[in-house]
Order: sequence, then C-alpha cells, then structure tokens
Amino acid sequence: MNSEGAPAVPGQFPLDVAQLQALVARYPTPFYLYDAAGMQRSARALQQAFAWAPTFREFFAVKATPNPHILALLAAAGCGADCSSLAELVLAERVGLSGELIMFTSNTTPAEEFIQARRLGALINLDDLNHLAFLAHHAGLPAILSFRYNPGAQRTGNVIIGRPEEAKFGVTRDQLFAGYAAARDQGIRRFGLHTMLASNEREPSYFVETARMLFELVAELSASLAISFEFVNLGGGIGIPYRPEEAPVDLHALGAGIRAVYEATFDGTGLPRPAIFTECGRLITGPHGYLIASVRHIKQTYRTYAGLDASMANLMRPGMYGAYHHITVPAKAHLPNATLYDITGSLCENNDKFAIQRPLPTLAPGDLLVIHDAGAHGHAMGFSYNGKLRSAELLLEADGQIRMIRRAETIEDYLQTIV
Ligand SMILES: *Cc1c(COP(=O)(O)O)cnc(C)c1O
Repeated sequence: MNSEGAPAVPGQFPLDVAQLQALVARYPTPFYLYDAAGMQRSARALQQAFAWAPTFREFFAVKATPNPHILALLAAAGCGADCSSLAELVLAERVGLSGELIMFTSNTTPAEEFIQARRLGALINLDDLNHLAFLAHHAGLPAILSFRYNPGAQRTGNVIIGRPEEAKFGVTRDQLFAGYAAARDQGIRRFGLHTMLASNEREPSYFVETARMLFELVAELSASLAISFEFVNLGGGIGIPYRPEEAPVDLHALGAGIRAVYEATFDGTGLPRPAIFTECGRLITGPHGYLIASVRHIKQTYRTYAGLDASMANLMRPGMYGAYHHITVPAKAHLPNATLYDITGSLCENNDKFAIQRPLPTLAPGDLLVIHDAGAHGHAMGFSYNGKLRSAELLLEADGQIRMIRRAETIEDYLQTIV
C-alpha cells in the first residue's frame, strides 16, 4: 500500500481466491465488501497532508458511504461527518457525533433539517442568503455560521459537478459580503467559509487554487466587515485512480501547496489563522469498497455479453456517468484477457452495463467478478427500479474478520411501503 491509502497495485483485492469463495458460500452474491483498514489509512493520509495546519479536520461526506459502522470507524480515526439531509444527521448522531464534529451542508433545505442540525449543535453551512432568515425563524441562529461560495465564471468545474456558473449550489461573491454582514448584524460572531467545486479531481493544483481563492476571500471579508474566520472548508472532490494507468493524488503535494498559500495569506498579517476542513467522501472510502457479483449467463449476439447477478441498481456510476470501474476475476487472474465483453446487469435498460467492450479472461456462468473502487457513491446510489433489491454490505475488519453491516433487502422490504 502507498501513502495515499489506495491499493498499490491497481486491481488489488484484500482476499485471496479461497477466502472469496468461502465468503460467497456464507453470503450470496451480489454484495459489497469494505476494507476497514484501507479506509482508516486513507483518512490518516489526508490528516498527515494537513498536519501543518493549526487545526485540521476531515468531515467524511456521509452521502458517499452512509453506513453507521463505517462512520464509526472513521470517527475513531478522527473524522467528523459532513451531512446534507435529515437521515444523514440521524446517522451521525447514532454513532455519537455531535456539535462541531458535524458539518451540515444542504440545499433546498427543509425547516426540519435546520432544526435537527441546531439540536445537534452542528456547524451550519448556508447555500443561499434567504436561508439566513429561514434558519433564524425555524431553528434560531447558531453561534457559528458559514456560507457556501460559488465563484461562477471565475472557476471551471469538471464533468460530474458541472461549471460553477451553471451549478445550483452556493452564493455569489457579492452575496457573500451581504450574507456575512447580515449575520454579523444579527449577532453572530464566529464564521467559516466553504466551497465545493470539483468532483473526482486528481490534480493537486486545482485544490491549491481553490484554497488560494478562499484564503484571499477570508482576508477581504475580514477587512471589509470587521469579522474573523475560524475555518475554511475546502470541500471534497479529491479524486481516486479508477483506471489502472492512473496515479493516486499526491496528497503531500496538495497539502504543501495549500500550506504555501496559507502562510502567504495569514502569516504576519495579523489575521487569525483559520482551521482547515475538508469533506471528502470518495478519497476515503472509494478505493476500499468492492462490489462482488457472479456471472449468470454468457450471451453471444452481435457482441459477447456476460450478465451478472448485480445490476446498475447496485452501482449506477458506469450507467449514469460512463464511469470506468476496474473489473477482475480473481480465480482467473493467471489467464490472459482473451475475450471482449459487455458486462451487464438485468435491468430493462441498455445503459445497465458495468463495462463496455472490456477485455477479460474468458468467462463462464458462476465466475466471481470483483468490481473495484465502488466504496463511495456505490451502494449509496442504489435504487429499486425494475424491482431490484439492494445488496448486503460486509466489512473486512482490521483483524481479518468479516461481518455483515447491512443485510440484503428482501421482497418483503420492497413491498412494505405499499398501502
Ligand atoms: C458530494 C459532496 C462531497 C463529497 O464529494 P467526494 O467527491 O465524494 O469527495 C463533499 N461536500 C459536498 C457539499 C458534497 O455535495
């Protein structure tokens, strides 16, 4: 394993073939398997990259892997929780997180979520100026407040999150000044600043430029409004290598680059030195989750199809974004990638494909496939279209034991909400 906590060898899987077969005998496919030690290593690597900051905290983005067992092990590694909904706040509370270990960043927010966030004492990050009065009315104003900044045309985003000026998130530069002034005039004294611009970005300089933009804004806002900032939240979006030829993000370079702009902004200028926060999801859990599925049928028409017992309902990223997920066949790892496959699920949708024209060892029904880098935005994005049921989630503990942390849905679960 390298210092970034991603597998050193692309396609690496923590179980050998016999262990995988024994696991499948206990838990029928498809299921997710998460590697606890890997996730904690990733959290530590991020913390080490920011060890220079007076205070640093990673608020794990709960939406990426919303399982309380995973939140608990990340909390034990020093992470807080980044929540964006009532259910995510409830999950954070269930694992014992509260107060300023929870960051609440939502949009189109209902009153009940602000009420719950206030009840927990969470850091509240506003997505719109109108939310200030709405929050005050429904939940009361907190002692500390931040706004989510959207720089518009001044920055480019990327494919998943889109261009900032077309994104629904955050407030404009002018609105930031108005928002903090209004919050100050209503008695708030403690402030933070937040943004979230990119998704799955692997270029450290992108994050250095984001940090520079935020630090400069903190300096300007502090001077013009006579307020001071306790934290700058750089958001999440640090990418991972999904393809074997890609490299992990150089977190050390990312941290060092941000340190340079931090020191240039805050050292010797009389400005208080704010804490640095991140809210990464993918970086922490992405490489350490695997979707395990079996080949049901091989179909030969104009192409060769391997149909799995998992579908896009278990992992929608390939169908939704055209995302690449590496696929390995542990029992056939010694064989050449001799056949081109479209690897499909059983949804009645033609984008229900985990891979298109992928060379793999020649497959047969019953072969076990490992779909890699599915630990973030994988099970979480699952859905039940076509009557598909969500799979179980299993956790490989640091001591090698594997336990189920979410059971598979049953047909009774599927029918339960029908009146
Ligand atoms: C999704 C999201 C994150 C986490 O994104 P990753 O790409 O998983 O790091 C962080 N913050 C906000 C506001 C988000 O919406």
